[in-house]
Amino acid sequence: MASVKKRSPLWEYFDISSENKKLALCLLCNVNISRGGEGKKAGTSAMKNHLKSKHPDEFSALNKDKNAVEPTTVSIAIAGTSSSSVAKKQLTMTESYERKLLWDINDTKARKYHYLVAEMIALDNEPLSIVERTGFTRLLEQALPRYKLPSRTYITQKIVPDMYDRIYEKIKRNISSAFGYFSDI
Ligand SMILES: [Zn+2]
Repeated sequence: MASVKKRSPLWEYFDISSENKKLALCLLCNVNISRGGEGKKAGTSAMKNHLKSKHPDEFSALNKDKNAVEPTTVSIAIAGTSSSSVAKKQLTMTESYERKLLWDINDTKARKYHYLVAEMIALDNEPLSIVERTGFTRLLEQALPRYKLPSRTYITQKIVPDMYDRIYEKIKRNISSAFGYFSDI
């Protein structure tokens, strides 16, 4: 299977001649083309030249397919040139600009979301690692570009104990007011 994949795309238009393995049969015009040898010694240059001169449409179609894959290679090549330093500089500028726009971890707006995240973890029984998950962080980056998710340590050591205290106080207040209600009867 793997050897088929490695084959030149030229084989789309050729077949090895059944009479002579040193020859390739052009499927478009039934002409035998020399492969220059057999097995590893065989080459595809004669086949390529044949296709190029006799079947230019098929030849350009093959090259078009090849070009479809090339943009990746091109962008990699650009990244390797001196223009990459310019791109890097721009990226750093954008990064620092965005960093300036990020809410501080103690910002009231940020804290509101810290609690919502912690509540989501508790209510939906999510693992704390959700704050490190790619999909979730991507969603938040898009929805709240100025918000940066705190680490799981921050959530466990700051947000959760604080939430616990708040809930504890609230329950305590509710219970005492309930007792107050009963004692009034
Ligand atoms: Zn041909």
